Amino acid sequence: MTGKAYLVGSGPGGLGLLTMRAREVIDEADVVLYDQLPGEEVLSTLPEGAELIDCGKYGGNHTLEQHEIEALMVERVREGKTVVRLKGGDPFLFGRGGEEIEVLREHGIQVEVVPGVTSAIAVPEMVGIPVTHRRYASQVTFITGHEDPTKPESALDWEVLARLKGTLVVLMGVKNLPAIAAALTEHGKDPQTPVAIIERGLRPDQRVTVGTLADIAGKARAVGVRPPAVIVIGGVVNLYDEGSVPGGTRASREGREDAKNKAGDR
Ligand code: SAH
Repeated sequence: MTGKAYLVGSGPGGLGLLTMRAREVIDEADVVLYDQLPGEEVLSTLPEGAELIDCGKYGGNHTLEQHEIEALMVERVREGKTVVRLKGGDPFLFGRGGEEIEVLREHGIQVEVVPGVTSAIAVPEMVGIPVTHRRYASQVTFITGHEDPTKPESALDWEVLARLKGTLVVLMGVKNLPAIAAALTEHGKDPQTPVAIIERGLRPDQRVTVGTLADIAGKARAVGVRPPAVIVIGGVVNLYDEGSVPGGTRASREGREDAKNKAGDR
């Protein structure tokens, strides 16, 4: 008897953006292999009776290597278990979900994918930044900032990226932000292009740092920007308005209350 496998996106954080299908399959799981990105609010609701396996990364250290995660999934499904692989955002956007599906398929295991709300769109959106806008951007490009632009073997074409007119959304880009900003300006992108960094989007301690390609690396260093963060580059950043962030999930509302209280203290 073989079990079932689900590849599930949790959304960017908070129960409000977890889909109903995700809730359903999580609640029926015998085994949940989870990352840290779904966030405390979601992770605290994983089923108590299930085997919960932490696959998170801590300061660059993986609790489990990718091949170990894949092997565990295969093993548990073969034991007849219902297995949920839970990832932040959408499982197919920089989530290695594609690789996991390949491995499961090689073992003859069919997988149901449960799409999630991606942080790449939702995190900027929650602070009032639309990734497209008729006036500012008719296209949007999602890139991983994991690629060091100074390395000749970079999989990204920085010359092309610098020429693109629309919005550039960078995930996993905190560490390489100085190199990314430099690569874009060196290839001709306007140094005055606005940039926003949204750290820990939809979490109580969400923080936004705004600047330009010319000064964002310095600003990020000054305030100590840390992952996870979504970086948005382009004219749409002009729509960020600190005072009028639209309503959101519980976590983000509480975060804003906290922020307001802190502001009041000052
Ligand atoms: N599959 C995920 C992305 C995985 S890559 C998705 O669709 O959202 C991991 C990167 O996602 C992080 O380095 C960060 O850039 C971004 N990210 C995910 N959740 C985030 C959050 N709540 N706040 C800020 N960035 C987030």
